[in-house]
Amino acid sequence: LVSREFHPADSIIRIGEHEIGGSNVHVMAGPCAVESRAQILETAHAVREAGATFLRGGAFKPRTSPYSFQGLEEEGLRYLAEARAETGLLVITEVIDAQDVSLVADYSDVLQIGARNMQNFILLKAVAKCGKPVLLKRGPSATLEEWMMAAEYIMDGGNYQVMFCERGIRTFESYTRNTLDLSMVPALHALSHLPVIVDPSHGTGRWQLVHPMAKAALAAGADGLIVEVHPHPEKAVSDGKQSLTPETFQGMMADLARLTLAL
Ligand code: PEP
Ligand code: MN
Repeated sequence: LVSREFHPADSIIRIGEHEIGGSNVHVMAGPCAVESRAQILETAHAVREAGATFLRGGAFKPRTSPYSFQGLEEEGLRYLAEARAETGLLVITEVIDAQDVSLVADYSDVLQIGARNMQNFILLKAVAKCGKPVLLKRGPSATLEEWMMAAEYIMDGGNYQVMFCERGIRTFESYTRNTLDLSMVPALHALSHLPVIVDPSHGTGRWQLVHPMAKAALAAGADGLIVEVHPHPEKAVSDGKQSLTPETFQGMMADLARLTLAL
């Protein structure tokens, strides 16, 4: 179902008035985690001004340490929904447990499956039944084939609205948090009809590398970007080092607009 042989034309995912796939480019932006009502509303207005079409922000956070902030859960989902109502941005947020799928789907326009859950097959089968588009992040050590098979689970379960998200893989390099594997963009486009989104924030772990890798992703043919933006990265509860400020995000967006016109 995932393969180009099954569906030769690019799949277009329609959400509200937006279309992902084909020749459109969408930017999804926002903090790693929803930390407070004020934080998410401020970020939402800033990223919308800069041209983002989706607001990202985790309410359920898959953290390496059990002692780290785990997310505001339903309270965070309510703030995201409020930000959507105020700005018109669509909302993408992560679901980490099959039991929470219908709750998250009630508040969100796109459900994000995080890298750590790419092969959580129970969760994949659950989001197959949620009725909302799914962004499937690549597992930190998943091959292209494993990743496509994970998407196959969602499509086999009846949900054809699936997007891939390259977010970097684990390699021997430790300067960057992950190694952003941009070769997956043309590789997936050759093998599959589904849209491909790139996450240069988790893909590098360093905010200084986000803008150049975002440009590279678009040059490689990505259908969109998902980027972490925080009003005060130095105070962020998670992923501050890879988060852009609203100002740097705005500068990047202006540059990307020039690039997409040139491509
Ligand atoms: C995130 O988007 O904040 C996140 C946890 O990403 P990943 O699953 O790619 O690590
Ligand atoms: Mn993050």
